[in-house]
Amino acid sequence: MERKELFHEGKAKRLYLTDDPHYLLMEFKDDITAFDGDKKSEFPRKGEFNNQTSAFLFNYLESYHIPTHFVQAVSDSAMLVRNLKMIPIEVVVRNIATGSLVKRYGVEDGMTLSYPIIELFLKDDSRHDPMINETHAYAFGHCTPEQMRTIVRIASKVNAVLKSFFDRRGLTLVDFKLEFGYGEGEIFLADEISGDSCRIWDKKTGKKLDKDRFRHDLGDIESSYEELMFRVLNKEHKPD
Ligand code: ADP
Ligand code: UDP
Repeated sequence: MERKELFHEGKAKRLYLTDDPHYLLMEFKDDITAFDGDKKSEFPRKGEFNNQTSAFLFNYLESYHIPTHFVQAVSDSAMLVRNLKMIPIEVVVRNIATGSLVKRYGVEDGMTLSYPIIELFLKDDSRHDPMINETHAYAFGHCTPEQMRTIVRIASKVNAVLKSFFDRRGLTLVDFKLEFGYGEGEIFLADEISGDSCRIWDKKTGKKLDKDRFRHDLGDIESSYEELMFRVLNKEHKPD
C-alpha cells in the first residue's frame, strides 16, 4: 500500500493517507507526552516498541473475535489500519486503583478493585479530558446507545482477555485506555494498546513498565518500554 500525504499528526502518532481511502498508515513517533501534552520528551525507538506491542496485542485480540482497526504491521514503527470515524471518547478500564482514581475518590493506591471500573472521558486536552457519562455521549451526538453498548461490551472483553494474557507473562494489567471508531456500520477498537495507554506492573517486583516512568521521572524509560515489548512478544529480553 502506497503512503500518501499526512492526514493527521497527534502527540504520539502520525496518520498518512494511502492509495486506498479505507486504510491509513499509522506511524508511531518517538515523542512522549504527559499531563495533556504539558510535559514532553522523546526516546529513541519508543515508536518501534509501541508499534510492535500494539500490533501483537491487536492481533491477539482479533483471535478472540474482537474487531480492531489493525490490518498489518508494515515496518518496525508503522502499521496499516482501517480509516475510521473516531468517537472522541477515552474509555478507561481499571483493575487496580491508582492515578486519577485515587485523587478523585481517595481510595488506597494499589488496591485491587472488587469489580473492574469502566469510565468515560471526553477526548479534549484543552479541557483536560473531562469525565462524562453515557448520556453526555448521546446528547453531544458522539454515539448511539446501541454503539455505547457495543463499546462497553468490547472494553470488558478486552479487559478479561488481556488481564489473563498479561498474568501469564508475569505482569499485572492495572488500567488502560481504549479508543473506538466506526466504519462500514461497525464499531472497531482503534488507536493503540501500549505502555503509553496502559499501566502494567511486574507481578513479582512491582516494577512499572509504562508511561508512569515518564510521568513521575522514574528513569529507564526506553529499557522499560523495550522490556514490555519483549515480554508481550514472549521473546528473551537482554537488558544492556
Ligand atoms: P493524540 O490525538 O492524543 O495527540 P496520537 O498522536 O495518538 O494522540 O494521535 C493519533 C490520532 O489518531 C488520535 O486522534 C486518534 O483518535 C486517531 N486514530 C486512532 N486510530 C484511528 C483510526 N483507525 N482511524 C482514524 N483515526 C484514528
Ligand atoms: N490514559 C491514557 N490517555 C489519557 C488518560 C489516561 O492513555 O489521556 C490511560 C493511562 O495511561 C492509564 C489509564 O488511562 O493507563 C487511567 O489513567 P488515569 O485516569 O489514572 O490518568 P492520570 O490522571 O494518572 O494520567
